Amino acid sequence: MRKPLVAGNWKMNGSRSSIPSLLAGIQAGLQGVAATVVVCPPFPYLAQTEETLKGSVLAWGAQNLSAEAPGAFTGEVTAGMLRDFGCTYVIVGHSERRALYGEDDALVARKFEVALAASLIPILCVGETLAEREGGITERVVGRQLDAVIALMEVSRMTFGLIAYEPVWAIGTGRTASPAQAQEVHAFIRQRLASHDPKAAAGLRILYGGSVKGDNAAELFSQPDIDGGLIGGASLKADEFLRICAAAPVPAQ
Ligand code: PEP
Repeated sequence: MRKPLVAGNWKMNGSRSSIPSLLAGIQAGLQGVAATVVVCPPFPYLAQTEETLKGSVLAWGAQNLSAEAPGAFTGEVTAGMLRDFGCTYVIVGHSERRALYGEDDALVARKFEVALAASLIPILCVGETLAEREGGITERVVGRQLDAVIALMEVSRMTFGLIAYEPVWAIGTGRTASPAQAQEVHAFIRQRLASHDPKAAAGLRILYGGSVKGDNAAELFSQPDIDGGLIGGASLKADEFLRICAAAPVPAQ
């Protein structure tokens, strides 16, 4: 069985004074949690996060990275810089990056590749808008987002990263995809990858993200192709985040 993973995307939230208590609260409740648990604070707090979490089972990562090598790219952050601060994971292609900062499929795919090359574990976000879902083109959109990465590398290499299916209409809206809706797209994603490499596709972890809460996590995580979650708002409250983490199934031995 694939080991479940739950990652918290703190987005542009937190402060130097709030982060230690949030990290301490999460760490305090991790005993017995079967999933790998990851937090992704904003860039300025990665140093503080590293200092606080050294030696902890709680892993950390960033919310974005540059596809470029070090150089004249004002405001950007390289994969190597993230490694410097102990990051293991990095989110790429979050829908907010795609919609608000013009990141297209090709750029997101390059970021995924650059992260892997730096031995980071990229979490590739894919998902359709409400208009795309209502227009019946969810699979076309998600397929296109995946194909941009498949064009750059073997599917077996993609399994060093993760995929997060995040329907845009469910992010931060309180409107969650039903377990059946989410499972349908997760199965499509796995099938798309399996058409290139069935063995690799079977081992790839696919997270669901979009208004996951303590109350709906267990049902979502019980779906056969849902291997954990990417959690936004609810990851900013230790208790709620831990309820979600605890809902991840224990992998069979
Ligand atoms: C996200 O930011 O990736 C996310 C899923 O947000 P939320 O859980 O708040 O919908």
